[in-house]
Amino acid sequence: MTASETVDDRPTARLLIVGPQGSGKGTQGARIAGGLGIPVVSTGDIFRANIKEGTELGQQVTAILDAGDLVPDELTSAIVRDRLTQVDAAAGFLLDGYPRNAAQVEHLDEFLHSRGEPLDAVIVLDVPREESIARLALRATEQGRADDTPEAIAHRLDIYEKETAPILSVYAPRGIVDTIDGVGSLDEITARIFRALDARGLRVAV
Ligand code: AMP
Repeated sequence: MTASETVDDRPTARLLIVGPQGSGKGTQGARIAGGLGIPVVSTGDIFRANIKEGTELGQQVTAILDAGDLVPDELTSAIVRDRLTQVDAAAGFLLDGYPRNAAQVEHLDEFLHSRGEPLDAVIVLDVPREESIARLALRATEQGRADDTPEAIAHRLDIYEKETAPILSVYAPRGIVDTIDGVGSLDEITARIFRALDARGLRVAV
């Protein structure tokens, strides 16, 4: 058995999904992870679950999430490391919402390098800012998320453009970035992503 194979012979799949808020990362990420049999690790979901349960972490990050700011890098990276060490992530994972800036890219690289587990692909959902804003405004009326106010939305998109989009220049030279047109029907976008993964030898079960 080679290092890149799991016991049942499926290739490992260590993936990132990157895109602005409202790009459909959550929906597409769930489809990809479900098809590959790997867990989605969403830092936003982890923070929201802790807030809901009133844990110490939740209390620490409530105001940060409400303002649309970033939780400190060290804290976020420690949570991700802890999550990726759990047994269900042994055959891979799909990270959603992390890494979000250069410091987090370094933290993740150090962690994966120490384990000899390189990333297989970075899926980028390309959606124009106006489209993201329209989708987030719709989600605000449907789900009532506290951080979906117009100000917090604009602030989060600014952070994405200034801090998160530039991380792709770190991954691009590694030849692992697949940029997907994120405008279209959900199924069309899923099909585009699955084709890109297929080209990397990652066959998604549908
Ligand atoms: P998301 O659901 O990915 O939009 O994340 C919601 C909020 O959680 C963000 O606006 C941040 O406040 C916080 N958050 C999520 N992921 C990270 C991260 N990688 N680094 C710092 N803060 C994060």
